[in-house]
Amino acid sequence: MKEFLIATGNAGKMREFEHLFSGFDVKLYSLRDFPEFEPPEEDGATFSDNAYKKAYSAALATGLTVIADDSGLCVDALDGRPGVFSARFAGVGAGDEANNQKLVEDLSGFVLKSRTAEFRCVIALCSPDGASSFFQGGLKGIILENPSGSGGFGYDPLFMVPEYGKTLAELSLVIKNRISHRGRACGALQEFLIKNEIIKSNA
Ligand code: IMP
Repeated sequence: MKEFLIATGNAGKMREFEHLFSGFDVKLYSLRDFPEFEPPEEDGATFSDNAYKKAYSAALATGLTVIADDSGLCVDALDGRPGVFSARFAGVGAGDEANNQKLVEDLSGFVLKSRTAEFRCVIALCSPDGASSFFQGGLKGIILENPSGSGGFGYDPLFMVPEYGKTLAELSLVIKNRISHRGRACGALQEFLIKNEIIKSNA
């Protein structure tokens, strides 16, 4: 059975990865299993930079093959912000509620049709020798004026998926993983892992 460390301490992301890999013969660890590991500062200019930084440092420290996701919300009316700053949009250490509040405030006065946005995700796969591969995914949507729904995490309650007429926080984990930026990037990663005979399906 192949073992991977998912380089995140974010419980919402980890829940999604566990579901995404549930059909495969793999064992997943998270950073919660390595409390002594100090993740690097995410100060890269791009999602890829940060994903690689997280993946390589965790692979070196643990000796495991690492899957690191760097993701965020890019809002057209805000020139792509918060982007790589999504986790700390309202300031370092800010939680989801404060970040969502700032997004609502920054977009006040914008009509629905100019509230377009995209969630983006880059996954870096990295082994302790530094060999790495990258996989990407995106999901386009509209930022609502008020949050709706209680599922998911982060900006999900404000992010409406036009195809479903619902926010990501109103959709099930199964649907979110089928359509989301992370689900798509992870699908490309799994295709690569299967093709290279690193993982196989349980079915
Ligand atoms: P990271 O851990 O540095 O990749 O930060 C990602 C941040 O982007 C999270 O803290 C959320 O604010 C936001 N984000 C990324 N993916 C999602 C998602 O699927 N739903 C909602 N927010 C997300």
